[in-house]
Amino acid sequence: MLKFRSIALMAGVALLGSACGGPEASETQAPAMSWEEFRANAYQDAEGKFIIDGDLAFDSQEELKAFFDENVAAETGSAQGGLAVYYLSGADVKWSTTQRQNLTYCVSSSSFGSRYSTVVSAMNSATAAWEATAGINFIHSSSYDSNCTASQTGVLFDVRQTSVTSYLARAFFPNSSRSGRNILISTSAFGNISPWTLTGILRHELGHTLGFRHEHTRSTASGCYEDANWRALTSYDRSSVMHYPQCNGTQTGDLVLTSLDKSGARALYP
Ligand SMILES: [Zn+2]
Repeated sequence: MLKFRSIALMAGVALLGSACGGPEASETQAPAMSWEEFRANAYQDAEGKFIIDGDLAFDSQEELKAFFDENVAAETGSAQGGLAVYYLSGADVKWSTTQRQNLTYCVSSSSFGSRYSTVVSAMNSATAAWEATAGINFIHSSSYDSNCTASQTGVLFDVRQTSVTSYLARAFFPNSSRSGRNILISTSAFGNISPWTLTGILRHELGHTLGFRHEHTRSTASGCYEDANWRALTSYDRSSVMHYPQCNGTQTGDLVLTSLDKSGARALYP
């Protein structure tokens, strides 16, 4: 996500505007939306990235348009049936067999300041949850923490703090360019976000970095339909770590991997 559920009730409509299909939408027929409408629902954060669906970032308007053309304008997916992988042009958006064992990242010591060790610890716990079930390996390359920026080529992605408070954190998909491969954690994520924890939020964001879509886009009944460019790895899971609770989800505690999340992750990354 992630937006905190209490503010999601107020901010959700605006932030998820582009994501929420109308009640007439079905799982095989997406709601019609013009580029102008789609662009109007995206917003630019402090990094200049275009944000849609709550926590998905794009480097430029050109990338946003490409996403629109492939995902919204030309809906091709179908509910083939809780985990779903980003699926574009007939292929899964995922890491290669080699890269998946070497998912390196840095944690910006200068941007997190006194919160640095808290973030390092939360990233260790959140990455461990995915590593315990799937054939992937995240590596904290701490030697780059003192120069952990969007242009740091020594790592696959960077983890930095942002003062943007319209989301708790945002992430990226495996097909993002280096400059877009960031996990940004909002200062608001360090406040009272119970029943969630920073680790729980990062479990969700790391799911995106592995290619997993928001689970609620699989159901028009969720009220948060995004698009049909996904391929089902398991049956629909309203408790998935990738499902917004406020989108008719059933996860009421912290964001944790369900048994379906685990089997879906193993299916994509054996
Ligand atoms: Zn998300």
